[in-house]
Order: sequence, then structure tokens, then C-alpha cells
Amino acid sequence: MASDDWIDIRKNESHIARERAKARELKKSAWWQALLQKGICHYCGQKFPPDELTMDHLVPVARGGKSTRGNIVPCCRACNADKKYYTPAELIMKRLENEAARADGEKPAPEKPPEFSDN
Ligand SMILES: [Zn+2]
Repeated sequence: MASDDWIDIRKNESHIARERAKARELKKSAWWQALLQKGICHYCGQKFPPDELTMDHLVPVARGGKSTRGNIVPCCRACNADKKYYTPAELIMKRLENEAARADGEKPAPEKPPEFSDN
């Protein structure tokens, strides 16, 4: 199987180290600080204090993503945790549901969905 066309991330640990270092540098940049001050989560669109937001790579560094402005977004802790469980399509559906709920003037969704109460 010809794999020349693919970025072989397995043997490219230097890519990961380099992009993570770039991400650390970007966190100090005026561009990122301004995004934190705006405080808008990329995924749910809600406003958070700067210390509630994390830096998220749209294409993960481990998948070949780069620490560029186009690939980095502010993300709240809840959305960051959600990303482990939801596909991008499901995240879009969740966001639309949240927006619909707010448009209807309903109470915001509870922090933990009912299926988390497993004890
Ligand atoms: Zn969010």
C-alpha cells in the first residue's frame, strides 16, 4: 500500500512537539488574549470568563493539525469535555438545540445530562 501521499503522524512526534510548543507561544499572543477577553466558546457560542476557556485545535495536533490561528479556537470546559463523546455533526445538533432553547426563552439545559446519573 502506497502511503507516500499521507502525513505519517506516527513517525512525526517532532510535529506534535513543535505544534504544542507553538500553541504555548500563541497563548501569550495578543490575538489569543483578545479572544479570551471576548470569552465566546467556539462550540456553544456562550460567554465565559477567560479562565473558563481552553485552547482547542479544530484538527487535533495528533492528527496532523497545526497551531495556526485558523486551527485554534476558544472552547469552554463543558464543550471540551463533550468533544470526547460527540462527533462534529452531533456537536452541531447540540448547538442548534441550545440556540433553539434560548430562542424559546426556556431554561438552559442542565449541566449534566440525565444519562450521567449512573450511581
Ligand atoms: Zn462551549
